[in-house]
Amino acid sequence: MAGEAVRVVVRCRPLSRRERAAGCRAVVCVEGARGRCSLQNPAAAGEPPKQFTFDGAYCQEHSTEQIYNEAAYPLVEGVTEGYNGTIFAYGQTGSGKSFTMQGIMEPPTQKGIIPRAFEHIFESVQCAENAKFLLRASYLEIYNEDIRDLLGADTKQKLELKEHPEKGVYVKGLSLHTVHSVAQCEQIMEMGWRNRAVGYTLMNKDSSRSHSIFTVNMEISTVDKQGQNHLRAAKLNLVDLAGSERQSKTGATSERLKEATKINLSLSALGNVISALVDGRCRHIPYRDSKLTRLLQDSLGGNTKTLMVACLSPADTSYNESLSTLRYAHRAKNIKNKPCVNEDPKDALLRQYQEEIKKLKAILAGQMGANNLSGLLPAETAHLAAKPAPLHKPQVDVEAEKQLIRKEYEEQLAQLKANYEAEQASRARLEEDISSLRNHYHLKLSALEENLGKEAAAMRTETTDKTPLHENSVAAAAEEPMLAQGPAAPWAAQGAGGVSRDSAGAEVAVAAEGISVLADQQQVLARLQMLEQQVVGGEQAENKDLKEKHQRRKKLAEERREQLVAALQQEDEASSDWVLLNVYDSIQEEVRAKSKLLEKMQKKLRAAETEIKDLQSEFELEKIDYLGTIRRLERDLMLFQQLLDQVQSLVRRDCNYSNMEKIKRESVWDEETGCWKIPEPIIQKTRLPAAVPSPPQLKPAGKSPKSRDQRPEEDRYKLLLNRSDSETIASSYFRSTRTSRILPPDLTPSRAAPGPGAGARSAAPRPRPFRLQSLTLPPAAPRRHEGCPSPPLCPRHG
Ligand code: ADP
Ligand code: MG
Repeated sequence: MAGEAVRVVVRCRPLSRRERAAGCRAVVCVEGARGRCSLQNPAAAGEPPKQFTFDGAYCQEHSTEQIYNEAAYPLVEGVTEGYNGTIFAYGQTGSGKSFTMQGIMEPPTQKGIIPRAFEHIFESVQCAENAKFLLRASYLEIYNEDIRDLLGADTKQKLELKEHPEKGVYVKGLSLHTVHSVAQCEQIMEMGWRNRAVGYTLMNKDSSRSHSIFTVNMEISTVDKQGQNHLRAAKLNLVDLAGSERQSKTGATSERLKEATKINLSLSALGNVISALVDGRCRHIPYRDSKLTRLLQDSLGGNTKTLMVACLSPADTSYNESLSTLRYAHRAKNIKNKPCVNEDPKDALLRQYQEEIKKLKAILAGQMGANNLSGLLPAETAHLAAKPAPLHKPQVDVEAEKQLIRKEYEEQLAQLKANYEAEQASRARLEEDISSLRNHYHLKLSALEENLGKEAAAMRTETTDKTPLHENSVAAAAEEPMLAQGPAAPWAAQGAGGVSRDSAGAEVAVAAEGISVLADQQQVLARLQMLEQQVVGGEQAENKDLKEKHQRRKKLAEERREQLVAALQQEDEASSDWVLLNVYDSIQEEVRAKSKLLEKMQKKLRAAETEIKDLQSEFELEKIDYLGTIRRLERDLMLFQQLLDQVQSLVRRDCNYSNMEKIKRESVWDEETGCWKIPEPIIQKTRLPAAVPSPPQLKPAGKSPKSRDQRPEEDRYKLLLNRSDSETIASSYFRSTRTSRILPPDLTPSRAAPGPGAGARSAAPRPRPFRLQSLTLPPAAPRRHEGCPSPPLCPRHG
């Protein structure tokens, strides 16, 4: 499989008002045509600027529209063809990551990459011929190494990362929202963005402290010329990373420092993954070091087309951060991915939908006939009957929309259930009506027969005309309630028409069956319509203008890429001039040319030397950061150890936690949850069998004298054990007098907290925290007896 390098572009924002007010100078220079970015060290004006070449370089004059069209367009187009794609923005806080990813609405050219990707995806989807798409979106945030669902019911709930042999790494419980239009995607994005903002005001105040990933999951069903159905799946990750600044620079302390450490942990892990991937010798790629790298595992060295937008501030005060960003981005450029079209995904929801649609249609066709079905269903496409989704759903309340999206399926089911119940109720009514009609019919019939009998007896000649007349009227009367059923009428009429009129009971049965069929059919139809509304595609397949526009943009992106490749090739050739053996007309000319070359080479050498120095100093800074973190963690560890030592002596002996070393040995690290699995606290109680005192007069003859001698000793130990079980010296000391004198009656140890004896008897599995409560009371003065000199010296006190 041919590898494809991660594409990297840089974007330098204009100087901000604050930077201008502070008198900052711009030290970043961008050459867009060559994709080159150079950085001048403000502290060493004599040094040549550091140059980096990327797949694109954009300055303040460039809009997000241009960046999207040139750099992001091919990647997103690839997603609509079945490739995975990831676009992530990297850079220090305030460098323009969110501006690039989310963007602003005015001017429209600065709309962000994420909303542009929505427009692009839906444009491709609508222009597609013979293809249907199922699009689902999710939005998550990684803050302090915790994953939160920004579109979930509870945005503060922490979600777990899981690994599936086929699906790869995924977030368990992350909500997926089916989207049918750009407007819906934008609504979802804004909702997530707002939830992100809420999180900040509660926790971190600053949007740049968390990583956010907006994902569009796409399933594509196409039909080839032979009429064969093909399924593909793709995923587009749009990542807004946290600020990459070094924690020592932020001056953060305590909680903020911990937070910064975790942000840096993910970004350092990302850096390490990039380094390991670039350094061909590394066999182990440390994806598991952070949640971010686990989630982006496929985007770095895996089955994904990846684009990194490195964002820079031009200010001289941000020189170090800009340099670090450029180095980071430059390294990432060398990562080779292995993107491929994801054919025939195993658990594709679209396939399940298609199969269910097929079955439902078969059911309906069987019941209604093909003609009726096509009248009830929306316009069908060749392979998948899909109703064109409305392009712009009416704007609804966001909360209601949120609910709607989340519980779409459940609501549809509830709706169906309600319909079914309504049908059941009307069916019951119908049965009632029919039974009263039947009574009425029998009454009338018997009355008629009676009359007829009488008439026959009176005039035996008149018998012929009456019967058809009354039959018709009964039939009409029998049809009446059925016709009153509104939409059920055709079915009821059909049912009634289909039976012979000589049995009223059979008529009722068929009518009831018709209603039941109708209820089922409505359920089937509702489900079918719901399923069909989930998929989109081909709505604008006939719109030539849109298709042309789409093709133009595709071509423009390709042209731009070719231009850049040509410019870079030229550059390469120019710099490799010296390798060629030139022929000079004169010595002077040769000297001049070679001096020029020498000068160029000396410049390069100087640049390389400063680069080495820079790298060394950066390494030193990083080391200082790491050492700082290690020292802080060691201090934290010491605190916990000291607390543990203190608390351990308070743990009762029969609890397994009294032996901390054993607990440590039994604890295991769980890679999946990122937590230790520690043993459950248990109390191990040894109970001796109840003693059965044998009466002295019934001494058994067979017992040895030795065993008889041991019994008093055993009894004594047992007594002692029982006593130690039920009381401590402290409690027995205080029990009778002191406790009741010092504490109010309702707080004496026996009532305020379960005493040790009581606890031991109940054998509760948890250690009791108040077991040594009596130790907190003021020490009691030993009681003196008459003539006692002082307790320590007194022989009676011992
Ligand atoms: P980050 O997400 O990297 O912390 P932001 O995207 O929030 O940074 O940008 C910080 C500020 O800079 C914002 O006020 C934003 O409007 C402005 N900004 C960023 N990039 C640009 C740009 N290319 N042109 C104009 N303003 C920009
Ligand atoms: Mg931001």
